[in-house]
Amino acid sequence: MNQEVRLNDLYQEVILDHNRRPRNFKKLENATACAHGINPLCGDDYRLFLNIDESGIIKEVGFEGQGCAISKASASMMTMAIRGKSRQDAVKLKDIFIELLTGDTVSDAVRAQADRLKIFEGVKQFPIRVKCATLIWRALEESLKNSNEKREVSTE
Ligand code: ZN
Repeated sequence: MNQEVRLNDLYQEVILDHNRRPRNFKKLENATACAHGINPLCGDDYRLFLNIDESGIIKEVGFEGQGCAISKASASMMTMAIRGKSRQDAVKLKDIFIELLTGDTVSDAVRAQADRLKIFEGVKQFPIRVKCATLIWRALEESLKNSNEKREVSTE
């Protein structure tokens, strides 16, 4: 019981903090990949920018746009989580995050791999918000599919 309450507090605190001070909240002028993600249900609308080097390492990440606290916090934490990772590892983390938020049962292994992102599992209590939290990860998925093309993604 106590654990649950604490997790909720942490969830609130982290999301509010990232919403107030989003990390990597900027357009990258030297982006090698980008995507546009829209969640019409909520009005979340973000552009994601990646700078991936020749060896496939994500050197820089930035995003801009607007939306609810959950979508912005998720985007902010995503940029921190994938920076310095290879494309493959970023895709893996995306899969973990999506499973965390949409899987019927989430294993402890998935939770462990999600690391700090596991606080977003609390979003499941508000099903309408799940798309807010996953939006930027869907945009990441699109941006990694083809580095030299602009991508559009909508959760509709
Ligand atoms: Zn939203």
